[in-house]
Amino acid sequence: MEKREQLYEGKAKKVYATDDPELLIVSYKDDATAFNGKKKGTIVGKGVINNKMSNRLMARLEKAGVPTHFVEELNDRETLVKRVQIVPLEVIVRNISTGSFSKRYGFPEGVVFAEPTVEYSYKNDELNDPLICDSHILAMQLTTKEELETIRSYALRVNEILKEFWLSCGVTLVDFKLEFGRLSDGTIILADEISPDTSRLWDAATGRKLDKDRFRQDLGGVEEAYAEIMGRLEAHV
Ligand code: 5GP
Repeated sequence: MEKREQLYEGKAKKVYATDDPELLIVSYKDDATAFNGKKKGTIVGKGVINNKMSNRLMARLEKAGVPTHFVEELNDRETLVKRVQIVPLEVIVRNISTGSFSKRYGFPEGVVFAEPTVEYSYKNDELNDPLICDSHILAMQLTTKEELETIRSYALRVNEILKEFWLSCGVTLVDFKLEFGRLSDGTIILADEISPDTSRLWDAATGRKLDKDRFRQDLGGVEEAYAEIMGRLEAHV
């Protein structure tokens, strides 16, 4: 597999073309941003951890029947993935109230929901990724009705699989964000990454935050938390 030109540079990853039009290489950076890029920093070693963690989790999901873009880990920071057209939605699943949910509704943090919630944000930095409802997604033709049903059911399956997996690592899966894409034949698959950048992961015994909230909220011990959560995953795979 030959790495070709850089196609895109995002906040946390770079994307390269390859000699196969259906495959891309993603390269994970240590750069960290929060609040739509207003807070910037570096989390040393994050790129390596997010690359490996995302790959392990996606391989697990794939085995459990959720199609993903993961093809092959190339090295510490780089992974071969299937090329998709990204659906411009952030798909957020929550098991416990916190973050923007608690802020938006003035709802206490830490309440365990009887059923997980699913919500969507419209991926648009200029608009600050606004919350969007199903009918507006369909009105703007961001997805078809069928695609949205597929995305929602995959998101809930991902939650079931990852919640159980993280619990076996002594970690509570609080909430997370997914992104989906379409293969050239239109098939919906899971894309982007699943990592402590995109998930809230709390130590099941102590409630200690082992994710990017340590960076967002200036809690300190950011690198240690990423190393800790990766260690938990490696001990259990
Ligand atoms: P909230 O909406 O409470 O801020 O975030 C809910 C979950 O989705 C958290 O696990 C958070 O990490 C993830 N999330 C939501 N929006 C983004 C985003 O723009 N970037 C990243 N990395 N994660 C996000």
